Amino acid sequence: MSAYDDALAAFVGRSLVALRPAADPVNVPMIRHWVEAMGDSNPRYLAGDGVAPASMMQARTMRGFGATVTAGGFDELVALLAEGGYTSVVATDSDLELVREVVPGDHLSVEEVVESISPEKTTGSGVGRFVTTLKTYRDAAGEVVATQRWRTLRFRPSPALEPRPRPAINLDNAFWFEAAREHRLVVQRCLGCKTLRHPPGPACPECQSFDWDTVEARGRGTLYSFVVAHHPRHPAFDYPLLIAVVELEEGTRLITNLTGVTADDLTIGMPLEVEWLDADPELTLPVFRPLVSREN
Ligand SMILES: [Zn+2]
Repeated sequence: MSAYDDALAAFVGRSLVALRPAADPVNVPMIRHWVEAMGDSNPRYLAGDGVAPASMMQARTMRGFGATVTAGGFDELVALLAEGGYTSVVATDSDLELVREVVPGDHLSVEEVVESISPEKTTGSGVGRFVTTLKTYRDAAGEVVATQRWRTLRFRPSPALEPRPRPAINLDNAFWFEAAREHRLVVQRCLGCKTLRHPPGPACPECQSFDWDTVEARGRGTLYSFVVAHHPRHPAFDYPLLIAVVELEEGTRLITNLTGVTADDLTIGMPLEVEWLDADPELTLPVFRPLVSREN
C-alpha cells in the first residue's frame, strides 16, 4: 500500500456530505410535476391518501440551483482523486432500497458516507478506481426510509483516444501521403535531370525543373542518425520515442519513427526495412524496424 492508497483508504466510513434536510416536506404539487414529466399515470400517486413515487427519493433532498458544498469530505475526496490523475467521472450503477413508502408530509434528510474505494482497475474508459457511497434517507423521527448505493468510476481518460498529430498536407506533398495510404513508399523524381528528392517540393534543386514523377522505393535503408525523445510528451505516442533519419537504398533520406527496437540496440548504419503504421482511418505512415529478412 502506498501513502496515496492509505490517504484514499482513510475516506472509507467518512461522511461525504453532512446530514442535510430537504428544503420542503414531501408534497402533492411536486409529485404532480414529477409524474407528468415522467409520463407515469399510476393513480395511487395523486389519490387523496396516496404515496410518493420511490424514484423521487434523490430529487427530494437535492440542493437547489446555486447551492455549493459547504461541509463534509466531498471536495477533499475529489481533490485527492484529481491528485492521482483520476480527473474524469462516470456513474456506473445505483441500487435504491425502500424501507417504507414515503407519503406527503414526510420531512426527509439525507447523509452520504463512503463505503469503499477500489484498487486501481483497467476499464474501457481508462485506468481508474470505483468509488462506492451509501446515501441514507431518514424521516423527521430519524427512522431510515430508504438507502441508495452509488458507484462511480473516477478515471484517467484513455490516451488511445488521442489521435496522432496531423501532418501539414498541401498540393506539393499530398501524393506522398496518398501513396502511403496504399502502403507504397515513393520518392519524387525530376523529369529534367532524373535526380531524386525528399521531402517533396515543387521544383528540382539541381536543374529548377517543375516537371516530376515518382519512383517506388524498395523500403530498405540504413540508420543515418537518430534521437530519443522523452519530453514533451504527446498522448498519441509511446515513450521513449525513437525518431530517426533513414537513408534509403535509392539515396534519399527521410525522417521517421523506429519500431520493434529499443534505443540501446541502435547503431548508426544498421540495416532497416519499412513497416506501415495505419495510425487511424485518415493517416498511414511509414516506420522502420531492423531488417530481419536476409535475401537480397
Ligand atoms: Zn532536375
